[in-house]
Amino acid sequence: MSDPEALDAADPLAPFRDRFALPEGVIYLDGNSLGALPKASVARLAEAVSEEWGRGLITSWNAAGWVDAPQRVGGKIARLIGAGAGEVIACDSTSVNLFKLLTAALSLRPGRGTILSERGNFPTDVYMMQGVESLTRGAVRSRLVDPGEIEAALDDDVAALLLTQVHYKTGRMHDIAALTARAHEAGALVIWDLSHSAGAVPVDLAAAEADFAVGCGYKYLNGGPGAPAWLYVAKHHQDRVQPALSGWFGHARPFDFIDEYQPAAGIARFLCGTPPVLGLAALECGVDLMLEADMAALRAKSVGLGELFAVRMAPLCEEYGFVLASPADHAARGSQISYTHPDGYAIMQALIARGVIGDFRAPDILRFGLTPLYLRYADVDRAVAILAEIMASRAWDRPEYRIRAAVT
Ligand SMILES: *Cc1c(COP(=O)(O)O)cnc(C)c1O
Repeated sequence: MSDPEALDAADPLAPFRDRFALPEGVIYLDGNSLGALPKASVARLAEAVSEEWGRGLITSWNAAGWVDAPQRVGGKIARLIGAGAGEVIACDSTSVNLFKLLTAALSLRPGRGTILSERGNFPTDVYMMQGVESLTRGAVRSRLVDPGEIEAALDDDVAALLLTQVHYKTGRMHDIAALTARAHEAGALVIWDLSHSAGAVPVDLAAAEADFAVGCGYKYLNGGPGAPAWLYVAKHHQDRVQPALSGWFGHARPFDFIDEYQPAAGIARFLCGTPPVLGLAALECGVDLMLEADMAALRAKSVGLGELFAVRMAPLCEEYGFVLASPADHAARGSQISYTHPDGYAIMQALIARGVIGDFRAPDILRFGLTPLYLRYADVDRAVAILAEIMASRAWDRPEYRIRAAVT
């Protein structure tokens, strides 16, 4: 079945679209980079600013629950990724949280000095590894291998394996349970970057016996630009980690103001400084909305949107040289689909000028995020029709579409 109207009419998630403030005339295929604005966030942020901050001032730390927001929002995110209560906390950025977990894993594997990842992983993951390497003056070595070589590279020096489940460029999906089991057999711990997974694909960290995970708040969780990220630490690891970023908010009694650092029990020790309260308020709205949706229905629609996209793109691949950069098998793909094209940048700018917003990832990838809560099958159909028009008329072939902006 590939009649978009029929698919939309039968879509159990269709009512969610109205919960977002989407601009007229835009087909938004970039929710994997910055999620759309939930209508509830507008009112909630106004309240948090005017009432809690404006009127309540500092009393809101207690009265409005600001001080517990990282745990509260983390507890909600936990339900999206199969984690338990007290295993997730919302804080800092994904990059900073990666540092916390890399150093945590190293501390739990004394005697081992390698952190392993794959070539082409998201840059910040790799850069944070290199930062740990230089901080330890080379005592810790970061090693990158091709995706097919990961299992073979799990030798007895690997303390931590850092992988992103859904690849940011291609959408290729790793098997969390299988790779975690392989790493554990080799005595290593695993850090999963779920930036393109949480709120996009079903994840069950408990079933996978996962050690650590991180993820973004501003992508599929719709937490807004620069939203706080989150981190997960399996319960049995938590109290054995002496945090490297030993900030006062992770202290057992921050308001005792004593000279000696003493980590809080449980997940709270992974906090560092004062939580970003306004960012957490927006993130909570996004997560609350996501929790209303059935994850199985979400995945089914994401697959359906991807299949329709691929079917509609097939003739354009033939005619204009687009090449599918994502796995052809939808089971191996996250909630996005990507194509390469030598003129990809200019083509994407022409699409954006016509209200079809995807993004470009160097050197030649056009990336389309498929967010089941607010995209319709008809949107996907129309987006590819507009792309076909741009290609047929060569409308993309203009100098202004070749000028690179700071953010692509
Ligand atoms: C988006 C993304 C990040 C972003 O990290 P920030 O610290 O929020 O900039 C990290 N890792 C992956 C895999 C991502 O896709």
